[in-house]
Amino acid sequence: APREDHVIVLFGATGDLARRKLLPGLFSLARAGLLPPRYRIVGSARSAVTDDEFRRRARDAVAEFGTAEPTGEAWHEFAESLSYGSAEPAHPQPLLDAVATAEQTIGGHPRRLFHLAVPPRGFTPTIGMLGDTGLAGNARVIVEKPFGTDFASARALDDAIHTTFDESQVFRIDHFLGKESVDNILALRFANGLFEPIWNRDHISHMQIDVPETIGIEGRAGFFEQTGTFRDMIVTHLFQVLGFVAMEPPTSLAAKQLRDETTKVFEAMPPVDPTQVVRGQYRGYRDEPGVDPGSQTETFVAARVEVDNWRWSGVPFYLRSGKSLGQRRQVVTLGLKQPALRMFALDPSLACAMSNNELVIDFDDPGWIAARFLAKEPGATMRLTEAAMTFRYADSFCTQCALAGYERLILDAMLGNQSLFTRADGVERLWKVSGPLLDNPPPVQPYDPGSWGPDAVHRLIAPHHWYLPDGR
Ligand code: NAP
Repeated sequence: APREDHVIVLFGATGDLARRKLLPGLFSLARAGLLPPRYRIVGSARSAVTDDEFRRRARDAVAEFGTAEPTGEAWHEFAESLSYGSAEPAHPQPLLDAVATAEQTIGGHPRRLFHLAVPPRGFTPTIGMLGDTGLAGNARVIVEKPFGTDFASARALDDAIHTTFDESQVFRIDHFLGKESVDNILALRFANGLFEPIWNRDHISHMQIDVPETIGIEGRAGFFEQTGTFRDMIVTHLFQVLGFVAMEPPTSLAAKQLRDETTKVFEAMPPVDPTQVVRGQYRGYRDEPGVDPGSQTETFVAARVEVDNWRWSGVPFYLRSGKSLGQRRQVVTLGLKQPALRMFALDPSLACAMSNNELVIDFDDPGWIAARFLAKEPGATMRLTEAAMTFRYADSFCTQCALAGYERLILDAMLGNQSLFTRADGVERLWKVSGPLLDNPPPVQPYDPGSWGPDAVHRLIAPHHWYLPDGR
């Protein structure tokens, strides 16, 4: 648990993210004994809300979305720590009063942690207010996504942040990096002698990162029309996972060393080629309330990108994510090259389905890892069939003990550990890499809800095949 006393200020405390993830997550940390010995949580937004009303909202949020009921001594103690102070950039006094009261209650000089769970248009004014009022000194700040919408806006946001905070105080959240099974990619690669020797262009024919979703836009047309799948998923989560999959061994797991390595991967990525991207839109999207009937916003992206360095030169990385698809999955697949000589006759159905070995990392919680290979089927003839060795987190570990992504990341921010947070140079580089696609997006192609996207995705990946059990 963090040893420094904390005042955590949750901006956007009346919003959806606070209700679904942050307040339940903070209560889970409290129950697990992972909040500092002395802490206070101050909710804030522009609207005026009383302390009691905020506690009631927090209790409702925990009851609906938390892992434990908001009852008993643990809840009572947590609820006692909650207060609320509204803040408009031009009228921050209620927040200043609430922070001062929280600090007096704790005594000494507690560390301030600001969590900016407000819409992007609120980032810069809120940060400016923190600078102007002097609240920012000795503080750390967690910034939610989206971190800009292109290179220029990301750079402008970084500039605004850096007028008030040093980069060492900034914790940009990408909640995929808080996932146990994404963190485990580092363990898999760098704690074992088994995998890393083959983790390169000599042995790997292609990589895939797939995050299909079954949900549609769930009534969030205003947000999604402005954003689309590329900005919402690829430039953020999938590229960050790619950074972990593709990085060189860092000299340590410290934040600088780790983020130097992911940033080097992003620097080695040539700009995304729009001809190597399929943008799709599910049939019916344009009929959703709030969506422009002629909308060109993509609800699906498949992209081929490269990492031009000694390890990966010539190895395609295929990324795919979209809404209203056939299955929800979060999976990395390493396709291995064929052996030099094929002595075995393959069943024709297998020849296409599995001509290579694959290492599959499912990073949807709780996650599993499988090595898929060919084995002899028992019998008089040499007939090969598909086999797999599978490790499942749920079979081997107490997955109930795992922290949810947000819990892990808020805890790391309190500990001052930036390893699993994105860094300004890396984020800016990813927007730069994405520039040609954002400037010249190919037209969207329709696909049926429940399918695997437009047919053109198969031409994009040929001669390889998409890995997904029934998504070929
Ligand atoms: P939301 O439901 O619209 O809530 C926004 C919160 O911020 C409210 O408390 C609102 O209260 C406050 N707010 C609105 N405009 C503001 C402004 N200009 N300045 C300061 N505060 C303002 O939004 P949300 O879904 O919680 O999202 C919050 C942030 O988290 C966004 O950046 C979003 O991209 C990110 N995020 C959300 C999710 C999610 O699942 N919801 C997931 C990942 C990231 P007042 O109007 O009273 O100020």
